[in-house]
Amino acid sequence: MAPEIKFTKLFINGQFVDSQSGKTFPVVNPSTGKVICQVSEGDKADIDLAVEAANEAFKLGSTWRTMDASARGRLMEKLAGLIERDMHYLAQLETYNNGKPLKDAVFDIYGAIYALKYYAGWADKIHGQSIPADGNVFVVTRKEPVGVAGQIIPWNFPILMVAWKWGPALATGCTVVMKPAEQTPLTALYMAHLTIEAGFPPGVINVVNGFGATAGAALASHEHVQKIAFTGSTAVGKLIMEAAAKSNLKRVSLELGGKSPIVVFPDVDLDKAVQTCHAAVFANMGQCCCAGTRTFVHESIYDQFVEKATELARKRKLGDPFGEVDQGPQVSELQFNRIMALIEAGKKEGAGLKVGGQRHGSEGYFIEPTVFVDVQDDMRIAKEEIFGPVQQIMKFSTMEEVIKRANDTHYGLAAGILTNDINKALTFSQAVNAGTVWVNCFLHVTAQAPFGGFKQSGIGREMGEEGIHSYLEMKTVTISMSKF
Ligand code: NAD
Repeated sequence: MAPEIKFTKLFINGQFVDSQSGKTFPVVNPSTGKVICQVSEGDKADIDLAVEAANEAFKLGSTWRTMDASARGRLMEKLAGLIERDMHYLAQLETYNNGKPLKDAVFDIYGAIYALKYYAGWADKIHGQSIPADGNVFVVTRKEPVGVAGQIIPWNFPILMVAWKWGPALATGCTVVMKPAEQTPLTALYMAHLTIEAGFPPGVINVVNGFGATAGAALASHEHVQKIAFTGSTAVGKLIMEAAAKSNLKRVSLELGGKSPIVVFPDVDLDKAVQTCHAAVFANMGQCCCAGTRTFVHESIYDQFVEKATELARKRKLGDPFGEVDQGPQVSELQFNRIMALIEAGKKEGAGLKVGGQRHGSEGYFIEPTVFVDVQDDMRIAKEEIFGPVQQIMKFSTMEEVIKRANDTHYGLAAGILTNDINKALTFSQAVNAGTVWVNCFLHVTAQAPFGGFKQSGIGREMGEEGIHSYLEMKTVTISMSKF
């Protein structure tokens, strides 16, 4: 049964309000293509109000600014607890709006809880240093919150992305204006409601639904937003950076796309390797920025690998995400069309289609798990981010060759190597240009370890201690000492 939709308005200064224009837009169920509900459509005027509320909440002397750091941490713990309490409802809502299988939604919610709890622990452990500076002075550094943080998130992990963004912002004492993806605003709105129950002062967290070119752009170019954190496409990441530069030089952190390689050497358990590579690309309907979308398999095991990978893709259970399935629909018609166009490009450019390649069913945005073999590096499917359930299997002979090919991309988010040879693992880990390298695993992302990209996969890191830094300013205080 469809979950009840409880919140559809904008969340500004602790209240759900209509947009200034009164406009709304539809939110669609990707399993059916039918409209779930209308939500308020925020644009520049609403972003202005939300930024004003966030600045007010950040003012010196405000409840938020004068709260003990440890108390901030406890509020975050409370929020994590409320998310856990309402996990069943949140998972249903996520699946309904995003299309991901219910068990995946639950997995994401645990990830969100762990991220919030991890950063809750940081709240009272962010401190500067005392420095033996030249001269008769006492020098200390303070790490202060940067101010109002704008946060723009995508639709592939709606709940998890909220937690990844709120966690470090709240731990450092920033205030937040978030714009969720227009495709998936419902769980962010529900989580906004929980922040009031948790006891966050009004204005600390604001959520403005709306489109990228209007609400998103207004946030990125706002003069009174001190930092912008963005996750999404590389193309929009560049627009965000430009808007930041052209407005007030707000701090920017970007987590963008990828075309991550996963390299399989012949010394591993083949079935396990096939399984790891399968999960690396098909998880979350292929809608992962760090998906392993270029599977490089050593020539000596290539044919066997291909047969097993094809079999696994064929067995993948596709259907109603509320049922016992591995795969639901893609998030939107636009994404569905983009992926189908790239599958067509793969066929046209001469890759071998082993399985899939078609729409599944007659309603919703389902795509059959698809495996391409004999993929060449210059094909579009080997170069472009597909963001769908499409595996590209390529053949390689030597380490030197595969490192060169793995690095031959403008992305650099993640990479993986499957081998039992420690020297191979170390050589690859050192040589590959990627923010994360997985050895004998893939997609293992945790709250404690930094995550982000080299090259055009992004700027800065989220999660772990690194994730704190992009929400902080460093202040040096130099105090003249009296002589004695
Ligand atoms: P997108 O980058 O357009 O959207 C992501 C977010 O940015 C959304 O909230 C959107 O409203 C906002 N946005 C869009 N234009 C903006 C602008 N001019 N100013 C400010 N904000 C703006 O992504 P998409 O169109 O939904 O997906 C396109 C492709 O992006 C996908 O096929 C995939 O390759 C990639 N993608 C990557 C991630 C990731 O996790 N890195 C997530 C989603 C999509």
